[in-house]
Amino acid sequence: MASALRVRFAPSPTGYLHIGGARTALFNYLYARRFGGTFILRIEDTDLERSTPESLKAILDGLKWLDIGWDEGPEKEGPHAPYFQTQRLDTYRDHCDQLIAAGKAYRCYCTQEEIRERRAQAEKEGRAYKYEGTCRERKDVPEGRPSVVRFKMPSVEGSVSFDDLVLGKITKEYSDLDDWVMLRGDGIPLYNYGCVIDDHLMDITVVSRGQEHVNSTFPQLMLYQALGWEPPRFAHLPLILGPDREKLSKRKHKEADVMLHKANGILPEALLNFVIRLGWSHGNEEVISREQMIEWFDFKDVGSTSGVWNPDKLLWLNQHYLKTLPPSDVAGRLAPFLAQQGQTLAPDDVRLERFVLAFRERAKTLVEMATMALPYLKQGVTLDEKAAAKHLTADSLALLRQVREEIAALPDWSVAALDAVIKTVSERAGVGMGKVAQPVRVAVTGNTTSPGIGETLQLLGKEEALRRLDAALARS
Ligand code: GLU
Repeated sequence: MASALRVRFAPSPTGYLHIGGARTALFNYLYARRFGGTFILRIEDTDLERSTPESLKAILDGLKWLDIGWDEGPEKEGPHAPYFQTQRLDTYRDHCDQLIAAGKAYRCYCTQEEIRERRAQAEKEGRAYKYEGTCRERKDVPEGRPSVVRFKMPSVEGSVSFDDLVLGKITKEYSDLDDWVMLRGDGIPLYNYGCVIDDHLMDITVVSRGQEHVNSTFPQLMLYQALGWEPPRFAHLPLILGPDREKLSKRKHKEADVMLHKANGILPEALLNFVIRLGWSHGNEEVISREQMIEWFDFKDVGSTSGVWNPDKLLWLNQHYLKTLPPSDVAGRLAPFLAQQGQTLAPDDVRLERFVLAFRERAKTLVEMATMALPYLKQGVTLDEKAAAKHLTADSLALLRQVREEIAALPDWSVAALDAVIKTVSERAGVGMGKVAQPVRVAVTGNTTSPGIGETLQLLGKEEALRRLDAALARS
């Protein structure tokens, strides 16, 4: 019987969740969801200097914001707990002991200083450094000297290969591999070692990660062989390039930070949709719902060419979701952006949804939407002098006064009733509606563009609209 599908995302908590990590997490998550598998989150926190609780929180927050839920891992636990590598040191030590006893690994007493010197020498001679096996057969155990544990590469000819689900067959000669370090003197595993032990013990069947790990796969496969374990399948994901076509990196590209997009008013739906298209496609589909992602995702549709960051596409997708998600839903997400700009509205304030409806055709982000809404929430308005000179003439002020009187008397402040007043006033004066609406617009918004005039007045509310009309009338 084929074993149940189990995939994992194994971030190191040494910084925020970056786009590459989010994509790896997403692809693994979707693969598990599509094929009824289990998605595991494992924290590779063995870099003690660089791993921090803040980074861990940032990664979990990022995954939660994107709604990439894991089945086993931190905050969830599961049958293979603990899911933090620093809590699994006994396991790594035990397996090391077994490998040493079986002659497949050995203690190495070469100091870092010695290795550094030999590496420098190799570089000087223009050859790639490989550990020369100094301690392989060492019988004299130097007293009190710290040791690491090294993998013992079999001394045979041949090659190791695997059939990558994305890249196809990849092969490496044994002679290109060396006796790599598995465990440090303090019992902390190195990446290749901890990764294999955990992937096996956590019953992982498919390992998907970034292409930068292709070369690590070979020493990992050697370890599977040495332990007599069946390796998982592998799916290495293509690079992601920044807008400048350089490899997307935290150092060079601010857009690599998932949470920056949240702060910029991007919706998680849009970012997820954007991220899935970095290296994966389904025909020419651009707008892809979560249901479709789960229905369609497969590693066989991941390409080997790099995904390129296209900022316009992200904004386009974001506006698509701003326009198509239920306005009440978007309203809830707009509120914090208004609060950030000093306007805290109650969650059930009807104006929030009105702002969404009024601005979603023009705003590409929640930040832009909040910026557009802000003038409607403040007291008073600064008139654009050019617009005022053109539209607030003596003639138009007379019309403005009529509008002011009639709307002040309206029993309900609805868009239809407000529009009807503009219509009546313009008909009575025998002018087009624009001749009335535009002075009103300039008077209440300060300039010549805004949503429909009834909508604009409604957004302002009666009190503020009248106040602004009065201020404009007082100019004459
Ligand atoms: N901790 C490794 C990383 O963050 C995991 C690589 C893997 O998935 O094997 O790059």
